[in-house]
Amino acid sequence: PVTPPVVTPPVVATENLTKTYGGRSVVDDLNLSIPAGCVYGFLGPNGSGKSTTMKMLLSLIQPTGGRVQIMGRPMTRGTRRELLGSIGSLIEAPPGYAHLTGAENMRLVQRLLGLNREQIDDAVRTVRLQDQMDKKVRNYSLGMKQRLGIAMALARRPRLLILDEPTNGLDPAGIEEIRGLLRRLADDGVTVMVSSHLLGEIDKTANVLGILSQGRMIFQGTRSELMTASAPDVIISCSDPQAAVATLRPFDARHAGRSDVAIPALDD
Ligand code: ADP
Repeated sequence: PVTPPVVTPPVVATENLTKTYGGRSVVDDLNLSIPAGCVYGFLGPNGSGKSTTMKMLLSLIQPTGGRVQIMGRPMTRGTRRELLGSIGSLIEAPPGYAHLTGAENMRLVQRLLGLNREQIDDAVRTVRLQDQMDKKVRNYSLGMKQRLGIAMALARRPRLLILDEPTNGLDPAGIEEIRGLLRRLADDGVTVMVSSHLLGEIDKTANVLGILSQGRMIFQGTRSELMTASAPDVIISCSDPQAAVATLRPFDARHAGRSDVAIPALDD
């Protein structure tokens, strides 16, 4: 008898996920699929619906329509608690009390989540903040605050990490630090979903890209698929390759040939 191949379900899958506010769809019929062990770069201009999507994946807001599956199981009121226990996230501004040290903040997380010391130390080492733990968080750079936030999200050793714009506002060294961190996490088998409005900030880290424009997925695939003709509705231009800033412009085929159509740029 032939052994059937083991099919691993996507770590995150959505089916027709939709969110409307006042009759306007800000996330529109989204079918996204994040394979296990990848870094999924979630791209789109500001206001395209990335945060709203991530909040729905985390059950922080309820979809108007459609479904979310995490690790092959539907997110429902009954499964929510258990599923969220295997997800680490960083959604709003980095957490942490500014007047406390990094170590004191991590001790709070340890107590709150009932973790052991080793889990905390591992998370701090993973984000490479072990030499900065006696400093007060108010003296951290933005990049260090983001990394402390990621350490908090990692402490429970989640299999899935959801990060909303962790590189936003960082200097090139800070961006590189986050990139290296995401790569190390993926090597350790953590699936990472990371959003950005700048292609250049995540394209080399992400193995799979999903691109949102006005709440709709206009591309999902690998970076090389994006760079080839298989993505005819996406135009890439590197305005400043030296600084690794690429502009990625969703292009509505209905307006092909017209020059008077405003096209949102990803680096707005
Ligand atoms: P992104 O993360 O890509 O910048 P968001 O998901 O934050 O985009 O926002 C998508 C759109 O939804 C924006 O136009 C935003 O103004 C709108 N939006 C987000 N949250 C709300 C809300 N609670 N009420 C009304 N509109 C909202």
